[in-house]
Amino acid sequence: MFAEFGTAGNSDAFYAAGYKASAQLPAWLSDLGLNAYEYQCSRGARVREDTARLIGQNAADNKISLSIHGPYYISLATEDETTAANTIKHFLQSLEVARWMGADRVIFHIGGPGKMNREKAMERAKTLFAVVLEEAEKRGLNDIDLAPETMGKQNQLGSKLEEVLELCKMSRQVRPAVDFGHMHAVTCGGYTAKSEYAAVFDRIGEVLGLESASKLHIHFSRIEYTKAGEKRHWTFQDPYGPPHEPLLELIAERGYTPRIICESAGTQAADAKIMQEFYQRLLK
Ligand SMILES: [Zn+2]
Repeated sequence: MFAEFGTAGNSDAFYAAGYKASAQLPAWLSDLGLNAYEYQCSRGARVREDTARLIGQNAADNKISLSIHGPYYISLATEDETTAANTIKHFLQSLEVARWMGADRVIFHIGGPGKMNREKAMERAKTLFAVVLEEAEKRGLNDIDLAPETMGKQNQLGSKLEEVLELCKMSRQVRPAVDFGHMHAVTCGGYTAKSEYAAVFDRIGEVLGLESASKLHIHFSRIEYTKAGEKRHWTFQDPYGPPHEPLLELIAERGYTPRIICESAGTQAADAKIMQEFYQRLLK
């Protein structure tokens, strides 16, 4: 088993080569030697069943592992009943799309704390999330992982790893998605040393077990930040952090097999390739 590398959404180069449909992406990624794809449902999981099945078939044919990024509208701590009902719907729709595609996980943002303090907001988030897990089970959608993501802005729930782990402790269906670009941004420049990366894997191993640490879902991109956290995503050609080398050195040394999704602005495939080639050199 090796680490997997792939893209969040479709690179500019994919469209520049004349392609238009996500269903064409798995073969394009496979030609590059990449093996993972995170399909973006950020604006709602509204893809048609036949389209989703076609993407899934093409991914299977090309040995591309699929994940789904759930809608940005998810807000687990909301005090608004309509938003809470919609949040449940967004989860279930995303899981259903994942089922059609054969994706094994749905990545999501926990949402904001509203006017509550963070502890209270996390309690609310857990209460609603318990309903989501129950509804998913009723529909037989509980074999697809749900992965709360570490966030890049101070004022978002999940900007602390511990908040993400709190949700993960609720069910075996829930695993963390660690965005190291976001963690670099919220710590105003952290995650430049191998020991900082190691601390994240060690903590996840301690709380959720070695397998969760070893098979972690990772987002990686260069990110510009301010005091409030994430400002915007850049590419590997731009002068921002965090550096990928210490992360990949750690992964290679420890024999971890994560799925690493590159979220560069437009150059996801090229930058995923840079990471993959660095990793492959380390293994030799
Ligand atoms: Zn995200």
